[in-house]
Amino acid sequence: MSDLLLSTDSTSQIYLDANATTPVLPCIAEVVSHTMQICFGNPSSSHITGIQAKHLLEQTRNRARAVIGAHDGDILFTSGATEGIQTAVVSTLIAAKNHSIDKPVLLYGATEHKAVPNTLIHWNEVLGINAQVLAIPVSSEGILDLDFIAQHADKALMICTMAVNNETGVYQDLTAIEAVIRAKNTDVAWMVDCVQALGKTALELSTTTIDYAPFSGHKLYAPKGIGVLYIRQGSAYTPFIAGGGQESGMRSGTENLPGIAGLNKLFNLLLDETDDTFKPLSVLHDYREKLHNALQYTFGQLTFNHKFENSVPTTLNFSVNELSSKEVMDLFDAAGIRISGGSACSSGASRSFVLDAMGKSNWQSENALRLSFGPATTQTDINFACERIRSLKSILQANCLIVSDSESPQQEACALGLTQYRHQGACCWLYVTSQHQAVIIDPIAELLPRLEKIVTTQKLQVVAILDTHAHQDRMSSVELFKASLSAHLNFCGSDQLGWPADGSVIELMQTTLERLATPGHSVDSLSYLLRCNKTKKVLYCFCGDLLLPAGLGNTCLQGGDAMQMADSLNKLQQRLSPDSIICSGHDYQQCFAITWQAQIQQTPLLADLVKNHITMNEFTRKKQTSDIEDKGKFENLCGYATQVDTASPLQVDVAHAKNLLSNTNAYLIDTREPYEHGANDLPSLFDISKLRVINIPLSRMANALSDGQLSKSQCYILLCRSGNRSKQAAVNLAQLGFEQVYNLNGGMALV
Ligand code: PLP
Repeated sequence: MSDLLLSTDSTSQIYLDANATTPVLPCIAEVVSHTMQICFGNPSSSHITGIQAKHLLEQTRNRARAVIGAHDGDILFTSGATEGIQTAVVSTLIAAKNHSIDKPVLLYGATEHKAVPNTLIHWNEVLGINAQVLAIPVSSEGILDLDFIAQHADKALMICTMAVNNETGVYQDLTAIEAVIRAKNTDVAWMVDCVQALGKTALELSTTTIDYAPFSGHKLYAPKGIGVLYIRQGSAYTPFIAGGGQESGMRSGTENLPGIAGLNKLFNLLLDETDDTFKPLSVLHDYREKLHNALQYTFGQLTFNHKFENSVPTTLNFSVNELSSKEVMDLFDAAGIRISGGSACSSGASRSFVLDAMGKSNWQSENALRLSFGPATTQTDINFACERIRSLKSILQANCLIVSDSESPQQEACALGLTQYRHQGACCWLYVTSQHQAVIIDPIAELLPRLEKIVTTQKLQVVAILDTHAHQDRMSSVELFKASLSAHLNFCGSDQLGWPADGSVIELMQTTLERLATPGHSVDSLSYLLRCNKTKKVLYCFCGDLLLPAGLGNTCLQGGDAMQMADSLNKLQQRLSPDSIICSGHDYQQCFAITWQAQIQQTPLLADLVKNHITMNEFTRKKQTSDIEDKGKFENLCGYATQVDTASPLQVDVAHAKNLLSNTNAYLIDTREPYEHGANDLPSLFDISKLRVINIPLSRMANALSDGQLSKSQCYILLCRSGNRSKQAAVNLAQLGFEQVYNLNGGMALV
């Protein structure tokens, strides 16, 4: 397969992200291709090929008029909605340059696509308009505040609203908005972003006073890079792109004829009453109901972030109670179901500004998921999607992500041993024995729902909930955890950091947990050492912020003392063995697992101390100096990595990986969480036996190292969803002395 065609297996992928973009329908692709190869003329040429192209262009314009009910005014072909928005805003602001309004405003809906406010802000500044850019608030249902519009309309140079929201599908009552605007201001330019309305709601633009309406082809099965802008007759207009005078001088540049041909076919499908490509609203409502039922079946409790009554049926925006959007997205992606978290168009955002504007809770906004389908979706597509969503229920149950409704849950295996849970840079550790005794170290409030579920579904007996020290970046969660897990606690009183009142050590069947005072990062810092009863070796050292992977804790925070740190580190050196695993309270660099030996190798100051190359006094001086330097560079972190890792692992592509797997005894390590792993059949995808595939999520890497699941001389190929997580893990394993570790470049996305 060539690189250009890497793409997905369309038979197994279930695409439910139509509001981000849609695939081009085969009949549209055919017309586009024909226009590129056969009817390829330049509409400005005067020969027959050019005349044919011009005919196609004008026919498409007329069809656009029919589809959006624009019997007068202008229809311009643009590169998409963003260009349409620029054109409308620039035209309006240039016309408004000499306005006489005192304290003018530019109004836009608070839930508008970012293209709108960002364009207003940009051109307001560039053109020196100096208007105040104001967001029109919305109700909890996403409906624009008409009183606010009424209050500001007389001072407005432009009002921008949208027909249908891209994140929630909420539609606005354009007639009501128009009545409010025009009662106050007959002249103000009004733009309505109609991108998500096309094909989903009826439009009759000529019967309205909407001045500008941008549309985009790729949201409705036409190619990317083509769109339409409607301009009401008489509305202000300044060409945004000048040049050869195409589009009657309104938008220069040779027209994107293949894209326009795609729109031509799309409009034809929309207008042809005998064609059933686009489903009527009643069918789309039925699809939504089916998807809703499937989601409900799989996840149990869902919170919808919008009301179905005022949304188009093609968008479902919801949060799964007690699961993060990342967990659900990873699971869906692994199962070949493509959905989006919040808005795909404002990538990088970790919460939804649309839901924030609607006043939804932080939890809803951070964990919102959007499932959207297009109006050409078939019953078979929906049935297939629902079946796939339903099939995820057993995977979720098996991984304690949802409470099983079976009487005897089968999930015992999933939390045995040590698991790391993370919230931002902070780490919480759960250690579970085969007899279901559990110790929670450095609990984090945000992780409580997850841990509560694991403790209840696996019927764990919690024998201790411990803080390594009074964390300075958050309140202690020991009491919160104790209260929520009270039915599962197997100890009574405890001291400030959670150590049970009745013992100097905590006996855990084959292991024993001891505590050791290790001040340095703070006065009260303790390390908890988990020792194997048989070998007497320390398996894990929970050291809080005394050590961070490849670094040392900060001694500049309250109670910090570099001299005490030196003493504490020497104490650890006496007690730990080279392969004891260091489990820190923070892991900003996503190292996940490090041994004492690797920690020493990667932390020069620690190495100098424990190898007696420097005295404790020298350590203290150097540590104090570096903490002051680091403080300036990295704000107030709980610790700093001394050696920033630049190693790049050996990368393999899919073909190379398959080759290694079939010709050597390499193993494939899936570093994704078990619920993602469970959604793929890796042995058949890589054509290898089940025994050659190991699932070691990064959160269980420390456990795997301690358990001896891996051998340093063995060849491993690591994979994850995108190749990023596994790359980090491959670097870490190489640093721990593993000789042949490869990363599958691009991860499952390119398999
Ligand atoms: N407006 C809305 C509501 C959208 O959903 C999008 C695309 O996500 C845009 C504008 C921008 O469209 P385009 O990608 O055509 O520039």
